[in-house]
Amino acid sequence: MELQFLGTSAGTPTKRRNVSGLAVKKVNQKSWILVDCGEGTQQQILHTPLSLVRLQAICITHLHGDHCYGLPGLLASASLMGRTEPLTLIGPAPLQAWLTLTQQVSQLVLNYELHFVDVVGLTHAIEVAGFMISAHPLSHRVPSFAYQLVEIGLPRHLDKEKLVAKGIASGPIWGQLHRGETVTLADGRRLAGPDYWLPTRVARHIIIAGDNDRPDLLAKASVACHLLVHEATYTQEIADKVGPKPQHSSAKMIATFAQEVGLSNLLLTHFSPRYQAQSSGLTIEDIEQEARAYYSGTLHLAEDLAIYHLDSNGHLSQRHFQ
Ligand SMILES: [Zn+2]
Repeated sequence: MELQFLGTSAGTPTKRRNVSGLAVKKVNQKSWILVDCGEGTQQQILHTPLSLVRLQAICITHLHGDHCYGLPGLLASASLMGRTEPLTLIGPAPLQAWLTLTQQVSQLVLNYELHFVDVVGLTHAIEVAGFMISAHPLSHRVPSFAYQLVEIGLPRHLDKEKLVAKGIASGPIWGQLHRGETVTLADGRRLAGPDYWLPTRVARHIIIAGDNDRPDLLAKASVACHLLVHEATYTQEIADKVGPKPQHSSAKMIATFAQEVGLSNLLLTHFSPRYQAQSSGLTIEDIEQEARAYYSGTLHLAEDLAIYHLDSNGHLSQRHFQ
């Protein structure tokens, strides 16, 4: 599966980083899921192969503007581009009221249905674009959530040796068993398809968190998780200067958590613009160095438009977007 960041800056965009937006999809599939939609997200999408017509769902982590102000424009553009398929929109309940009002005052009529799902009710997973999606509450100044995506539809393979050993020759019966059907042979034996499937590989399981100052809230969800995408807005030194009010995580906080729960892959994002201002003397390497000091797994600091590939063995690598 692939994750492409459309924005990695916290609060305001910078020349190199837009505000939050992240595309998730299976490799070689055109359908995709958008997590957060800061202002300018649709402009970033124009620099990718992603299509608003093939977008299956939008998941909004919380209602701060840098995570959702791009939504009305993106929805309007999808309509102008000819989208007619319904679109699932998951987020906190006031999102629906805000969009309805925006549609009314700007007389925006969409050519497709929006299926709104209140994130609070998403303790039970729903199926979207080849994933089961569920949500976990976080700690922030407004209700904020992490989305957990578990892939489904893993490739299925027949246990050919077992079939041959039972005297079942290759033919249409193999196809029926592969599809999971129950087959009655000429000699009266009944075979159930699933009994002849090889064990599938482990489904990939990722968590994409919204703003959060309590990484420990994800401890249970992180068991068996292959990848956590989490904010690291500041280094600890700046977090201490700023104080606890903004309710963000430092690189140290999230790296320490990832180390404690044994996460194999950590992708950091949502960096304060002060780390890109030459005048401040602070750089993104400050965040990276701090995270590496507390976490020994595979670590990446997200860049806008970069693609991160999580392979079927759970290895994470970066592909620079061209
Ligand atoms: Zn926020």
